[in-house]
Amino acid sequence: MKTPPTPERRDQILAELRRDAEIRQKGYRERALRLFPHVCASCGREFSGKRLRELTVHHKDHDHQNNPTDGSNWELLCIYCHDHEHEKYKSAGYVDGSAPAEKPGPSPISNPFDKLGDLLKAKDVEPGVEKKNEG
Ligand SMILES: [Zn+2]
Ligand SMILES: [Zn+2]
Repeated sequence: MKTPPTPERRDQILAELRRDAEIRQKGYRERALRLFPHVCASCGREFSGKRLRELTVHHKDHDHQNNPTDGSNWELLCIYCHDHEHEKYKSAGYVDGSAPAEKPGPSPISNPFDKLGDLLKAKDVEPGVEKKNEG
């Protein structure tokens, strides 16, 4: 008869699984870069050396867990085209939970000069300051 795994053992297994997944996820970029020419599939720009960082792996079905070894779910996109690709997808009603790409919304202070105006007015009250514009 087998004894059930202890909670400690279970945690260990979970940790191993998680580490495995992490390694696999880090690995897919390397693999994709080996499989494909270092060219953005969308805009056709070439990347090499330091700029290779700007070339990212896009998952065609937007499922980051879906990493077939033949690379059929991958596409190399530069960061700009990659962004665009996800925007397109999102506007089609799909939300990619993996990338919290929050756009800065409209600022609550619509016109920063409103505040500045108040500050200048407050200054006017003080006598003797900034009176050069008289006359
Ligand atoms: Zn591109
Ligand atoms: Zn993507």
